[in-house]
Amino acid sequence: MNKQNLPPEKIPKESGQSTSTLPPNALLQVQGVTKVFGGLTAVDHVTFSIKKGQILGLIGPNGAGKSTIVAMIMGVYKPNAGDILFHGESLVHFKPNQVVERGIARTFQVEKPLLSMTVTGNVLIGALLRTPGRKEALEQVKKIIERVRLGHAAHTLAKNLTVQDRKRLELARALATCPEVLLLDEVMAGLTPMEIDQSLDLLRQLRDEGLAILVIEHVMRAIMNISDRVVVLDYGKKIAEGEPRKISQDPLVVEAYLGKRGTRSGVPANR
Ligand code: ADP
Ligand code: MG
Repeated sequence: MNKQNLPPEKIPKESGQSTSTLPPNALLQVQGVTKVFGGLTAVDHVTFSIKKGQILGLIGPNGAGKSTIVAMIMGVYKPNAGDILFHGESLVHFKPNQVVERGIARTFQVEKPLLSMTVTGNVLIGALLRTPGRKEALEQVKKIIERVRLGHAAHTLAKNLTVQDRKRLELARALATCPEVLLLDEVMAGLTPMEIDQSLDLLRQLRDEGLAILVIEHVMRAIMNISDRVVVLDYGKKIAEGEPRKISQDPLVVEAYLGKRGTRSGVPANR
C-alpha cells in the first residue's frame, strides 16, 4: 500500500514536514500558514492540528513565530498563505471577536487587561458573552477566579496586580468565554516552580474536561511534562513534531536550543 492509500493517521510524520495530512478528528487545523512582515517571513508554511482533549506544546527560540501563529488563529493577522480551520470552517476572514464567539480564546504574552477595572470586572466581560444574565455570569466569574487562584485579588484593580496575578487574570479572562480551544502564550512566565506545578494541574483538568489547549512556554520542564504532542518552530518553520520524549532527543531541536544559535535570542537552553 503506498502512502496515498493510507488513512491520514497512519501516514508517517517526517520531521520538519510542513504539509502533513491532518487527522480527520482535528478540532483546529493550521494548514500551511505563512505570515510575512515586510521582508521577514515570520511564519513559513506551518501545519499542525489540535484535537479535543489534547495539549499541544508549541516551542521555539524567541522570534520563531509562535505568537504570530496565535495572532493568525485569532484573526488579528490574516495569513499570506494557508488556511486555519475550526470544526472544518475557515477562520481567516473573521475578526478576533468572531473567532472568540466561535469558541477559541487566547491569553496575551504581554497582558492586556482593562487596567482601571477590577479582576472581577475584567473576567465578567468574557462571561457575559455566553451568559447574558449578570447574576449568573458573576457566579461563573467567581468560580473561574477561584480556579485560577486569583480569589485573593477578586476586587483588585488590574493595574495593581503583580505580574504573576496578571498572568492568572489572562487565563481567567480566556476561560470566561467558555472556549473549546485555549491558546496560552507564555502564561507561566514569572511563576515559581510550585506555581507552575499548580498551573500544570489546572491545564490537565481542563484537558480532561475536553478542552484543546495550545501551550507556548519557555519553561521546558513544564512543556515536556504536560504536552501530548510538541511542535517545534525555528525561524518561522516547523522543524519537528511528535511526542515530548522524542522531541527532546531530536538533533534539530537540540541544535535550535543548545547549539550556538540557541543563544541568539538570549533564551537560556535549560529554561
Ligand atoms: P515568538 O512569539 O516565537 O517569539 P513572534 O511571533 O513574536 O515570535 O515573532 C516572529 C518574528 O516576527 C520576529 O522576528 C518578530 O520581530 C516579527 N514580528 C512579529 N510581529 C511583527 C509585526 N507586527 N511587524 C513586524 N514584525 C513582526
Ligand atoms: Mg511570543
